[in-house]
Amino acid sequence: MHKHHRALGLAAASFRNALDVAQALSPVQPVTLTRPHAAARAARFFSEKFPGRSMYAVKANPSPELIQILWDNGITHFDVASIAEVRLVARTLPDATLCFMHPVKAEEAIAEAYFTHGVRVFSLDSLEELEKVQRATRHASDLTLCVRLRVSSEHSKLSLASKFGVAPHEAKALLFAARQAADALGICFHVGSQAMSPDAYAQAMERVRQAIVEAAVTVDVIDVGGGFPSVYPGMEPPALERYFEVIGRAFESLPISYSAELWAEPGRALCAEYSSLLVRVEKRRGNELYINDGAYGALFDAAHIGWRFPVKLLREPESTVRDHPFSFYGPTCDDLDHMAGPFELPADVGAGDFIEIGMLGAYGAAMRTAFNGFTSEQTVVLTDEPMASLYMDSDRSAVADMASNVVKL
Ligand SMILES: *Cc1c(COP(=O)(O)O)cnc(C)c1O
Repeated sequence: MHKHHRALGLAAASFRNALDVAQALSPVQPVTLTRPHAAARAARFFSEKFPGRSMYAVKANPSPELIQILWDNGITHFDVASIAEVRLVARTLPDATLCFMHPVKAEEAIAEAYFTHGVRVFSLDSLEELEKVQRATRHASDLTLCVRLRVSSEHSKLSLASKFGVAPHEAKALLFAARQAADALGICFHVGSQAMSPDAYAQAMERVRQAIVEAAVTVDVIDVGGGFPSVYPGMEPPALERYFEVIGRAFESLPISYSAELWAEPGRALCAEYSSLLVRVEKRRGNELYINDGAYGALFDAAHIGWRFPVKLLREPESTVRDHPFSFYGPTCDDLDHMAGPFELPADVGAGDFIEIGMLGAYGAAMRTAFNGFTSEQTVVLTDEPMASLYMDSDRSAVADMASNVVKL
């Protein structure tokens, strides 16, 4: 079967699972494994169940294939943060709506986004940025301006609380000024990435309420940002429906016009399940495995913020030896290229073994470099399920709901 794949060219190859890839290709470089069906399922989930509009935060994974999959499954709006992301999405999806949600932009980027790519939505967190947007768009009268509030990141694994966002005592003046300049006025925030509790959004919405009441302005858009979690070892969040309920309820009770819109900017939750990584163990030293990808590859978060990803030893027959905690070294000549884990693998794992590292679709592939000559140039499509999922249960309960509706009828 793999001869057939080679004859077709690898771009067209699709495999059942990571073990098949390891056996067929014995790849010397790490291979990115994608699961288009998992990204499609996540996109449908958000477009059907979030009680507002979901736009994809492109920085989480800017792969054109992924962006196309999300579009095909109901995601029509994209949160872009740089002019390169604006151009990428405009080129990939000419009909998509782009929202430029980085609160500190180059004036040239704003002008190109507005005049060349039709971008009308911009976020900002200072009067200087408001003036910049007005100058760059020649005081356009069709802008949606979203004021970014600073909110707590206490429920999140990755803080976004210090760099951006207007402080409470300055929000009133900025909202008032933005209202004068905007066709539509929005308020946005980001609770931090991988928010482990819906309370994060409830608390942020309370901040939004205070800001609206103090500024006494009419608000047309509430944008709850990203932060929706995925599932990793030791991090099992509540069901996403719980987040949607909390956000929907808070939105309904805000003092805003009844035609106001609710937006979200999920990054991680839409793409974490989209890809994983096939790596090879080059050496074992005690409980340390030297693998061929690392901190400068797709494992930045594993190295720098101690993120744990699920791992699986790919052997047939499966190892029957008990699991044991390992740490990883990446391939570069650099002590920083170390992933503490712990990663649980059968105790007999060793040089020459292949491992699948899962849930790397968000902030994995996106951060890869070719430092020291180590990188991954090959991508292969898989048809099996991701190593963990927040969406498979919802498929099952949808089936169950349908069944109970049938009974009721
Ligand atoms: C990074 C980012 C997102 C996506 O965050 P996730 O935690 O991946 O959902 C959304 N909006 C803005 C403004 C961001 O900077």
